[in-house]
Amino acid sequence: MLDHTHQEWKTRASGLDFRCQAFIDGRFVDAASGKTFDSVNPATGTVLAQVAEGDAEDINRAVASARRAFEAGHWSRMPPGDRKAVMLKLADLIRKNLAEMALLDSLDMGKLITDAVTVDAPGSAHFFQWYAEAIDKVYDEVAPTGPGDLALVRRVSLGVVGAVTPWNFPLDMATWKAAAALAAGNSVVLKPAEQSPLSALRLAELAAEAGVPDGVFNVVPGFGHIAGRALGLHMDVDCLAFTGSTAIGRKFMEYSGQSNLKQVWPETGGKSPNIVFADCDNLETAADMAAFGIFFNQGEVCSANSRLYVERAIKDDFVAMLKERADAMQPGDPLDPASKMGAIVDEKQTASIMQFVEEGKTSANLVTGGARVTVDGKGCFVQPTIFDEVTQENPLARDEIFGPVLSVIAFDTEDEAVSMANESIYGLAASVWTDNLSRACRIADNLHVGTVSVNTVDALSAQTPFGGMKQSGFGRDLSLHSFDKYTALKTIWIKYKA
Ligand code: NAD
Repeated sequence: MLDHTHQEWKTRASGLDFRCQAFIDGRFVDAASGKTFDSVNPATGTVLAQVAEGDAEDINRAVASARRAFEAGHWSRMPPGDRKAVMLKLADLIRKNLAEMALLDSLDMGKLITDAVTVDAPGSAHFFQWYAEAIDKVYDEVAPTGPGDLALVRRVSLGVVGAVTPWNFPLDMATWKAAAALAAGNSVVLKPAEQSPLSALRLAELAAEAGVPDGVFNVVPGFGHIAGRALGLHMDVDCLAFTGSTAIGRKFMEYSGQSNLKQVWPETGGKSPNIVFADCDNLETAADMAAFGIFFNQGEVCSANSRLYVERAIKDDFVAMLKERADAMQPGDPLDPASKMGAIVDEKQTASIMQFVEEGKTSANLVTGGARVTVDGKGCFVQPTIFDEVTQENPLARDEIFGPVLSVIAFDTEDEAVSMANESIYGLAASVWTDNLSRACRIADNLHVGTVSVNTVDALSAQTPFGGMKQSGFGRDLSLHSFDKYTALKTIWIKYKA
């Protein structure tokens, strides 16, 4: 697959068969209203498919089927080794259908096929496998008590988990939620972003093929303010795992308060700083990774390193190095393996990015980029863009742009760098580049973020938790810690004759 040509990807894409209905209770069904919405390829503007537009009625059906399945126990009470075998099979099926899964995301939201087939789709298989393998290795606890008392602290499944996910990594965001929630024995109702529902629908079908029982994994496509809201307000959903913007994360907290006090785990926006010191070992690598940190996935990454703080002594040279890299990453057809950047997800997001860029041109120094472009005369594409001389107060440095736009700010001292990096409502991730170990550790201690990457960007693995502080939300995906979200602690206290 990695050696596929542009033409081969285009041929494969044109032969794809999309799943367009909601997946409820083990089968594909139309929305109760019969309504559909268009799924549009942002690289070409063409309509890929008409997808079922789920509303409260469909969410009710999906939650009812999830609850029935949970109570029936075919999944929730399945022995851990058996549940593991089903999830391992699902991981295998994702690998068998890797090209298709990658194409669905690339076509639906514009990411490079090269990234989808090397990062997103294999990542999904890996995360399902990782959680499958964890199922029969996580032990419960016995609390310290005196003789005659046995106090068990058990982790039990919650019941019905609602998941609402964004469009930037459609398959992986669905996976991060579903893999851990299913591994913990729950039933899941997933509402994918309306911009990118296709891979989640195919994932549900593959889960059924792997042996996930009917009703355990449901996918209801639809709009956020209708289907997402209905899931957030549902009285029979035990937990709502959300990834998306801070504004909508806030809404889910409100929905919970207005309904059944369901647990809500928001994983929201970011404006992650990348701090580069003059003493960093390899400035070439730092520049490569700084460019990757903001331009990968068109900058549509919650932990994108969108604020670059560079020590003043090397700032001009470093910006020149970055300009070279940005200029070499111009957008192209996402299906062309030679392209270095894909399409922005839709017209609305493109317009929003361009508004920041246009305002930035009047308040900072545009180093490179700054234009919306087309590929073959079509599509939503934005050049990789760098602004220098950005002030902390500038929206370029303050707001989450969620596009390929980097803001550069010079600093003189370590304290100044840390204090500027912390000056944000967000606290998702940060990077530091230095060869001074004590400095790296000191800064890692002092940054108010969920992940600090030292001499790299965006360190992420199945083994380590991912999530934020402050208004980046407090949910954690990945690692065994994500079981904290999808299980409840139950104490069982037994008296016996000692
Ligand atoms: P969004 O908040 O607009 O949408 C996310 C999801 O919420 C979608 O499924 C959408 O349909 C739904 N939604 C929208 N309005 C709703 C409403 N009123 N009620 C209920 N549900 C609603 O975010 P987006 O534009 O899809 O994604 C971009 C955002 O996601 C960025 O802010 C990014 O930082 C964030 N993100 C965070 C992480 C993380 O792990 N912290 C990861 C990826 C993306």
